[in-house]
Amino acid sequence: APKIVFSIADEAETFALAKRIAPLLKAGDVIALNGDLGAGKTTFSRALIQTLLDNPNVDVTSPTFTLVQTYESPNFPIWHYDMYRIEDESELDELGFEDTIDGLAIIEWPIRMGDQLPSYRLDIQIDFTNTGRSISLIGHGEEWNTRLAKLS
Ligand code: ADP
Ligand code: MG
Repeated sequence: APKIVFSIADEAETFALAKRIAPLLKAGDVIALNGDLGAGKTTFSRALIQTLLDNPNVDVTSPTFTLVQTYESPNFPIWHYDMYRIEDESELDELGFEDTIDGLAIIEWPIRMGDQLPSYRLDIQIDFTNTGRSISLIGHGEEWNTRLAKLS
């Protein structure tokens, strides 16, 4: 799948990128956020959620202990996951992940989902660089590529 890479200097640029991605999203989408601890996964999630809710005051933190936090955006519900504490895929059944297909799923630590991570998704990889961060977008499936093409 083609990869689009953005060089990101600071949090303001993370927010600006999220604002450009937000209008491309629709119910049923899955965003998998990859990157080390502190890379900026929650920051990106916050930017996306605040943009979709059109409210910069909404409190968005990592749902580290609850695993999932739900938000009602005007167009679809948003499910923000932090899978870091998932040790066994069977714990995902309890979480009801399959019920979230009516909305947007934003997933931190998607690697913890193993085989249960949906294959139709947008992968976002955040890496540390000398000057800040790089944010890479990799859409899986033809439709994602069509949508991502609108960014460049
Ligand atoms: P993660 O969820 O990947 O562990 P966070 O989003 O919690 O990371 O961010 C960790 C720290 O890095 C926070 O202090 C945040 O302010 C900072 N940070 C996040 N994104 C950026 C960025 N694009 N540029 C500089 N600092 C950032
Ligand atoms: Mg986080």
